[in-house]
Amino acid sequence: MENKFEMPQLRYAAGDLAPVISEQTINYHYGKHLQAYVNNLNNLVAGTEFAQSSLEEIAAKAQGGIGNNAGQVLNHTLYFEQFAPKPAASAPQGALAEAIVRSFGSFEEMQKQMNAAASTLFGSGWAWLCADAEGVLSIRQMANADTPLRYGLRPLLTFDVWEHAYYLDYQNRRPDYLAALWSIIDWQVVADRLK
Ligand code: MN
Repeated sequence: MENKFEMPQLRYAAGDLAPVISEQTINYHYGKHLQAYVNNLNNLVAGTEFAQSSLEEIAAKAQGGIGNNAGQVLNHTLYFEQFAPKPAASAPQGALAEAIVRSFGSFEEMQKQMNAAASTLFGSGWAWLCADAEGVLSIRQMANADTPLRYGLRPLLTFDVWEHAYYLDYQNRRPDYLAALWSIIDWQVVADRLK
């Protein structure tokens, strides 16, 4: 029995994140780009040493086309699952909030570093809030389909800065896209990733 990777199910409708992320962008980014990565991964892993592996194992270890498509499936799954149209809280709570203060000094400083990493990333890639094995959090820039799993880091929060993520809605104004994303982060989802 070989793996068949599937699309993550969204807890919101395509238009629900507007105006931060438009329905058109969800339809292309989730519906077309992510679907293509899922299809490519399924086609590429068939008959290889990764045919029985989990998505996380493939994203952490595989090179070339398999590694790129697995990284993109994993990264986009984390990205789309972290949003809610009306998040219950506008800032982290509990253990996540404490870890952020321990590692950055304040929530605002973490946001500042995340915005800086995402806005200055040259070309296509991802900005991450990650946790290491000791629970220390850090902000990382990763190019293309790279993923924290390759560095033994736990991904908590991610901003996709490939142009396909924001160009329909913000054109060249990447910082405006990044500033708006904070208002749709579901901090409970991010906190659950730290557990
Ligand atoms: Mn993307």
